Amino acid sequence: MTVEELIVYGKKYTSSTHTKMLLAVLLEVNPLELLNILDKVVDDSIVNLYKESLKALNENRPIQYVIGHVNFYGLKFKVNENVLIPRFETEELVENIKNYLDKKKITNPKILDLGCGSGVIGLTLKHFFKDADVTLVDISDEALEVAESNAKSLGLDVNFIKSDWFSNVPLDKYDVIVSNPPYIMTDEEIEEIVKNNEPHLALYGGKDGLDCYRKILKDINNYIKDDYLIAFEIGYLEGQDLKELIEKTILNSKIIIKKDLSNKDRMLFVEENID
Ligand code: GLN
Repeated sequence: MTVEELIVYGKKYTSSTHTKMLLAVLLEVNPLELLNILDKVVDDSIVNLYKESLKALNENRPIQYVIGHVNFYGLKFKVNENVLIPRFETEELVENIKNYLDKKKITNPKILDLGCGSGVIGLTLKHFFKDADVTLVDISDEALEVAESNAKSLGLDVNFIKSDWFSNVPLDKYDVIVSNPPYIMTDEEIEEIVKNNEPHLALYGGKDGLDCYRKILKDINNYIKDDYLIAFEIGYLEGQDLKELIEKTILNSKIIIKKDLSNKDRMLFVEENID
């Protein structure tokens, strides 16, 4: 079949945007270039892969899992059903950490990414701070496998630890501790496509969404340097409650809640209070 025939065929199963995205990935071209190769005859093996992928999309599987990788902060990351699909909000979290380190002129930070999933946070930071000492932690072997494969394909040298939050992390002091833990509340309504496809281990954070932050906060004082940044991604309703928990746990801290581009509370930063 030709590219043009495949585009027409695809529209029976999914949106024309997804059709073109998928085909572009399979043919390793930019979606816009498809228009220049409409008459090209496509190999049967690719046609079969394309048809299988269309079927998956038609069954409401997320395009990121079907394609098998995403772009995060300009870098290519493998994803599969064992890890959360990275969100734009998490790029904002990384950007804030990057700005903090630039402002403080720290070029070789020690960074701990708790609950790393595919590794987007820790690995992106390592990409930008080549002299950083970055450790990625997850409880899931399957997630660690994805993160390790991403480290390899991006050529980044980082440490991995299988651990339930701090339980297996050797005592050490970090400049930055970052986490995008599971924070969806047990009864919270979320999109069907998320609920039916993404790992619940990475999504749900108990009745009030704060269970994982409680576990992290229990040990965090032992792992931060005098001058530190803690960066959390948070559920949009959780900022105030988490702030109160932190005030009780980390003394003399300055806590800042920040909104994402959709104007929802999405990040919480803790620094030493120097005022
Ligand atoms: N941002 C994700 C969502 O809204 C949840 C991520 C998380 O729980 N850490 O589906």
